[in-house]
Amino acid sequence: MSGPVSVRSFRLLDSMSSILHFLNDSTWSRRREESGICDFTIGNPHEMPPRELVDAYSRWIEPRNKHWYAYKMNETGSREVVAGSLQQWRNIPFEAEDIFLTNGAIAALAVVLGTIVDPGDEVIFISPPWFQYEGMILNAGGVPVRIRAQAGTFDLDLRAIDEAIGPKTRAVIINSPQNPTGRIYPSEVLRDLAEMLGSKSRKSDRTVYLISDEAYSRIVFDGKPYPSPVSFYPESFLIYTYGKVLLAPGERIGFIALPPQMPERALIRKSLLGLQMMNGWSFPNALLQHALGDLDGIRIDIDHFQRKRDRLCAALTAIGYEVLLPEGTFYMLVRSPWQNDEAFIELLARHDIFCIPGSTMDVPGHFRICFTPGYETIENALPGFDLAFRQAVEMGEAQS
Ligand code: PMP
Repeated sequence: MSGPVSVRSFRLLDSMSSILHFLNDSTWSRRREESGICDFTIGNPHEMPPRELVDAYSRWIEPRNKHWYAYKMNETGSREVVAGSLQQWRNIPFEAEDIFLTNGAIAALAVVLGTIVDPGDEVIFISPPWFQYEGMILNAGGVPVRIRAQAGTFDLDLRAIDEAIGPKTRAVIINSPQNPTGRIYPSEVLRDLAEMLGSKSRKSDRTVYLISDEAYSRIVFDGKPYPSPVSFYPESFLIYTYGKVLLAPGERIGFIALPPQMPERALIRKSLLGLQMMNGWSFPNALLQHALGDLDGIRIDIDHFQRKRDRLCAALTAIGYEVLLPEGTFYMLVRSPWQNDEAFIELLARHDIFCIPGSTMDVPGHFRICFTPGYETIENALPGFDLAFRQAVEMGEAQS
């Protein structure tokens, strides 16, 4: 007899079991509401929302016509805002009709996967990954293919990607700047990737799409330019969310953008719209769409993030931790003094410091620090990071 939930939902849960365990059953899940803890787990805001954000909503909440709060889809005004902004930012002549407004990057990814993936199609993603890719590929009926980034540097392993692409490959998901490593893939690598995907597509007479998750593309450090994977490969879906740059992930707005040279755009446009409707009405709500012109112009202080990154990186390195300096995002990957990262996370918790163990994201022996908390939290945490490191070294691998 079959049970109440689908086999597919079991498989999805399975793909997320270790992060779900952390979110629901860990010491952090029990203590997360306590005041005075140093919570470096997930990318939530730790300070009051920016005033400009609240002002933008206030400006647009009062209805100006009777359709103000009618059903909203890919509204012309919103599309024009995004196309205009991308044209300047990326120097690619994106067209308004190629912009699809979604409830953040999560919905954008679900809609794109639903549009291009047939049952049994393979979708490649890079590991360590953002924890939802695998489940989202399964949810679209696809087969997730995990390709490890290069050891140590976490750069793309083009040879491994090349070897993994076969007749069933439908897409490769690239996330730059990358969560959790903070890596930004350089132009040369993206150019080689594009050439490889183009040649594979021609050989098998079936397009291998690039899904470019650019959730953190406005959070880039050291004034570096941001090379977008989409600039190198027209058969790309650009995915973006405003949740990161506005530090308001509970406000669900983002988009999919198709480059103007994307082949068969008319059909893809139709299918994306259909999927948006069928995929739980994946459009941002009316207020967010009205306010988008203002929201798109708000810039958080990237230098503020960079200073926190630099302080943490310098202090942790001085203690003895091995830190991977992120080029973008608000995450930092740190090597755990114990190979058993979960045990070390527990040790940090005894000092009221909470981070995510690397084993939840396929990078055991590491942990991830999210540096959205303020300077004060960082300063408060440093003595605990120091003590935990020394205790771990003193206790030795016995705890591993
Ligand atoms: N992609 C990546 C790489 C992410 O880290 C996240 C959020 N953590 C998302 C997509 C989803 O973003 P949103 O919740 O704004 O849709």
